[in-house]
Formats: sequence, structure tokens, C-alpha cells
Amino acid sequence: MQIAELIPTRKPFFSLEFFPPKERETWPRFFAEVEKLKAVNPLFVSVTYGAGGGTQANTLDVVTHLKRELDLEPMAHLTCVGASSAALRGFLEAISRAGIDNVLALRGDPPKNNPDFRFEGQEFQHASDLVRFIRTEFPAMGIGVAGIPTMHPESASLDDDLKWVRHKVDAGGQFVVSQLFFENELFLTYVKRLRERGVTVPVLPGVMPILSMKSAEFIATLNGRAVFGGFYEELERAFAAGGDEAVRALGLARAVAQVQGLIDAGVPGVHLYTLNRAEACLAIVDKITFP
Ligand code: FAD
Repeated sequence: MQIAELIPTRKPFFSLEFFPPKERETWPRFFAEVEKLKAVNPLFVSVTYGAGGGTQANTLDVVTHLKRELDLEPMAHLTCVGASSAALRGFLEAISRAGIDNVLALRGDPPKNNPDFRFEGQEFQHASDLVRFIRTEFPAMGIGVAGIPTMHPESASLDDDLKWVRHKVDAGGQFVVSQLFFENELFLTYVKRLRERGVTVPVLPGVMPILSMKSAEFIATLNGRAVFGGFYEELERAFAAGGDEAVRALGLARAVAQVQGLIDAGVPGVHLYTLNRAEACLAIVDKITFP
């Protein structure tokens, strides 16, 4: 079922994001973690593609397993950067055959091993090109798009960024999933600005619990420190005082406060970046009071 049809049926809800582990031998353990998270009753689960070297085949196999064996509603992430329409069509046909009804349509990042890569001349230059392609060739497919509350690093201004999110939605994006953030105000202001821009579709906040200093450092490398607000310095102080145990406690407490604050502010649901670990997510959800 399309996620856009599911969203109005339950409020608030949780959705969960996973990445396909690279080593297939570890998949049984990974699926066991996912199974534990069924206790959260996720509205949908999403599976990344490409980021960290994952392959399209891994994403396809994971979403197929989550649908057929675990009876979940999966959404496959799909990037279009450097891809041909034939390759994208092949993937979309394969997930359709597997009974997958939803895709998160992304541009993706330029290949790191090709410094000469240029977007100009590519068949797909923006996520909106992929959204339009899916809408035309796979009209039954549900489509989500990405939003970055701190704005995409390539955007000239937040206003410019918001304009292009609106463009993706106008092309057929049915809901927006946000990049992780650590200050709720940042997300709530972002939604307000999208509404002022005429974006009326649901915007789902992405929340990630920080469980180690290494993970915080990795996120800062990927997204810049701006994404943390002042939280990075708090994590550094915790690490200096009590190592990763203190970081994990602070990270979990922050995620609980964020999720509770977002639910109290009336978001439709919260998208949890699970890092493929059930325990932390279960600990967070356990502490939430629902209206
Ligand atoms: P776009 O919407 O195309 O935006 C990219 C930039 O181009 C922005 O600056 C935007 O303002 C600008 N822009 C957009 N349209 C136009 C236009 N028509 N004309 C001019 N400028 C335009 N990456 C992965 O590789 N795999 C994943 O699984 C993955 N999952 C993600 C999940 C979420 C929730 C998020 C937020 C990001 C994810 N990413 C993933 C990262 C994403 O691929 C990168 O952020 C990428 O750099 C941009 O993708 P996008 O879909 O936001 O691109």
C-alpha cells in the first residue's frame, strides 16, 4: 500500500530506517534485529541504497525479505545520480514484482572515485527528474522525497532549497522525510517555511540516537557540524567525562526528548534512523507518552 495512504490512518506513528549490511553472512542477525523492532508497530520501514557502498541488489533483497518474511511495509531508497533510465526502470520493475509499493526518490551524491563527474549532461540531474520518471512510468508507486532542515550543502540559500523541495512535491512527491537534526526548533521552523511555500504534504522528522562519539564524528563528516547545533559540544564534554557510556546515555536521552517534543508538537509520525540496532530504538519508544 502507498505510504501516503497509510499516513492518515494512524497518528502518531513510527517509521524505521535500515541499511543493508554489506556481508550477507550477517543478514540473519540483521533480520533478527528488525524482527525485534516489530514491537514498535512501524507504519513503514525504509532501506537505504548506495550510501556506504551498498548495492541496488542488496536493497532489493532486503526490502523483498522485509515484505515477504516479516510482513512489513518497506520503502526502497533509490538514487538517480549517474544512472540510466534503463537501469532505473529495471530496478523499479524488480521492486514492483516483489510487491514493494514505495520508493524514496533521491538524487544521491556524485561518485567519490570520479573527480571529473559533472551533473550537466546526465540523464537525471535532480531528484525531481526521478520523481517525474517514476510518476510517469510507474503510476501505482508511492513516492517520498528527502528534505534537509539545515539545507542541502549545495544550495545557495534556504529559500532556494525550499523552492526545489516544492518542485519535487509538485512533480509527484507525496511526503517528505527529513535528514536527522538535533534541535526540534530547526525542524518545526523548516516545516513552517515549507507550508509558507505551499508544500502541504506530510513532512516526517528523522531522529537518530547518538550511541558513540565515533558515530557523532561520522555524522559530522557526512553532514557538517551545523546539523548538531550545540549538541556536538555537549557530546564531547560527556565523552571527556565518561567515555562512550556517557555519550550513549546522553544520546538516548536527547532522542527521547526530541521524539516526545515532536509528538507533542503534533507531527504525523517520527522516522527513526535505527542504525540496524533494535535495543536503542526500543529503549526510546518505551519512554514516550502518547497523546
Ligand atoms: P535534490 O532534491 O536533487 O537536491 C540536491 C541539490 O540540488 C539541492 O541543493 C537542491 O536545492 C538542488 N536542486 C534540486 N532540484 C533542482 C533543480 N531542478 N534545479 C536546480 N537545483 C536543484 N543517499 C544515498 O546515496 N542513499 C540513500 O539511501 C540516501 N537516503 C537518504 C535519506 C534521507 C531521508 C535523506 C535526507 C538523504 C538521503 N541520502 C541518501 C542523501 C542524498 O542522496 C543527498 O543528500 C544528495 O546530495 C541530495 O539528494 P536529494 O534527493 O535531496 O537531491
